[in-house]
Amino acid sequence: MRIAIVDCYVDEPSCLGVPPYISPYIRYSAGIIKDVLKTDPDYLTIDQIRKGWDLSRYSILVVTAGTTVPGKYLGGTPASPGELIKYFENVPGKKILLGPIFYESHGRLKRRLKDIFDHFLPPLFESRLYEILGGNEKLESGRNIVNRFAVKGAGIVRKHPMYPNVICEIETYRGCFWRKCSFCSEKFYGGVNFRTVEGIVEEIKALYGAGVKHFRLGNQSDFFTYMGDFDQDIPRPLPENIERLMRSIRMSAPELRTLHIDNVNPKVLSEYPEESEEVAKIIVRYHTSGDVAAFGMESADRNVLKKNNINADPEEVMSGIRLLNRVGRKVGSSGLPELLPGINFVFGLKGETRKTFELNYLFLKEVLDSGLLLRRINLRQVHLIPGTELWKYGDRNVRKHVKYFRIYKRKIREEIDRPMLERVVPAGRVLKDVVCERQRGKVTFGRQIATYPILVGIPGKYETGRIMDVRVVSHGQRSVTAVEYPLDINTASMDTLMYLPGIGRKRAGNIALKRPFKKIQELKKVIGEEAFLKIRDYIDLRAYMP
Ligand code: SF4
Repeated sequence: MRIAIVDCYVDEPSCLGVPPYISPYIRYSAGIIKDVLKTDPDYLTIDQIRKGWDLSRYSILVVTAGTTVPGKYLGGTPASPGELIKYFENVPGKKILLGPIFYESHGRLKRRLKDIFDHFLPPLFESRLYEILGGNEKLESGRNIVNRFAVKGAGIVRKHPMYPNVICEIETYRGCFWRKCSFCSEKFYGGVNFRTVEGIVEEIKALYGAGVKHFRLGNQSDFFTYMGDFDQDIPRPLPENIERLMRSIRMSAPELRTLHIDNVNPKVLSEYPEESEEVAKIIVRYHTSGDVAAFGMESADRNVLKKNNINADPEEVMSGIRLLNRVGRKVGSSGLPELLPGINFVFGLKGETRKTFELNYLFLKEVLDSGLLLRRINLRQVHLIPGTELWKYGDRNVRKHVKYFRIYKRKIREEIDRPMLERVVPAGRVLKDVVCERQRGKVTFGRQIATYPILVGIPGKYETGRIMDVRVVSHGQRSVTAVEYPLDINTASMDTLMYLPGIGRKRAGNIALKRPFKKIQELKKVIGEEAFLKIRDYIDLRAYMP
């Protein structure tokens, strides 16, 4: 019996599975297959299917799909519902579809998917998949159900097309204490349900043993309240539990290269500043730098917050931003600050008016003018999910305000994002371990393996998968241009030389004509003392040592 797991990539408020990320859905499915059928499944991605991979050879296909918060991705494009129909409708064998697509689809589309697939499972799919495949043991209740499967399925990461440059999204819990925001699909997971520290650590050990060095504790609605005190209206962080988790992870994967977090609820930070500051310090003690705590602020307009039951107001978010800046703004070994806040805004919500756009802009301007750091500003139009309160209201505000969305998005990218990026990662900063992912024309695009990595354009053509350090030269709105560091001026391409500060096409041409240089003086003679001083920190001076 030949079985394949097909990764059509997922993106949810609290789970990312677009390369280089590999989602828990894939790893848990592999573990369940191994547990019940005693076999290792193949692992395919939608990108391989698009290139014509023959699916008819499989007797069982487990397909994972769905983007309830769609974005733009460098590492791959999630399958659209239309593609799910196109690629799977005429394939023989048993077909099982699971993941956030269950909540995302509705009406005719949902009926069509149900016709094509033998089983259509919601994201908390584990016990159903286990039964369908023939498992007959009584499974553990709650989210600790996944612990045994997570360990058994860890080895599938070796089949990922980007392995070993993959990052595993790790689940600490599912569900949300709040569950009231009008647009959010997280409420479908019900109340908060934790995995134990031991369960998470065993999974990380298994992944580390399979060669994974990059992890994000991203599969939860608020990292600060993992194993917190939920007897309060707003749950209280318990720093000792975060410390136990983070310390145990570092002990079980001592040479990991990335340990990041994702979602943090700013309401928790403002409600419990002391405990939260302690948690932030613990994170900084055990994680790797370049970390981001993504705040779901959604809007700076109080009317919108009220009408959509969003829990943190602008002052509370601002106090959270200040707290994380106090603890996390120091630059770490990756070249980025240790831990900074990110902000998510959603447009098209109930109560939104033209003024909402202005208020959001002014909030961000205040952050910028206060000298604070933000690592990422996410601006998105709401994606309606059936069953949420906003579903009934519809997308009238998205349509009505499309013009303002475009105007303010441009304004924020230009007036806030760019100066913020210049502040967070100034020219001359060295970014470590950038993975080359794609070539476009004469530029290679790469990113660090991280949470919300910054896009780096590297002039020149570099092999995909190559890992290198780069030095920042200039800034776009959400990306930087950087050159390989340290740069060997005797071998660097013309395309790279031109981007060095103060060089330009003419001097680059002169360098290319007169090299190789054996002494610094020879180079200075060609480009002049002033230009040399500008590039001195970018080039490999060891090449000129006797
Ligand atoms: S706080 Fe609101 S937006 Fe965040 S996970 Fe909970 S329901 Fe969703």
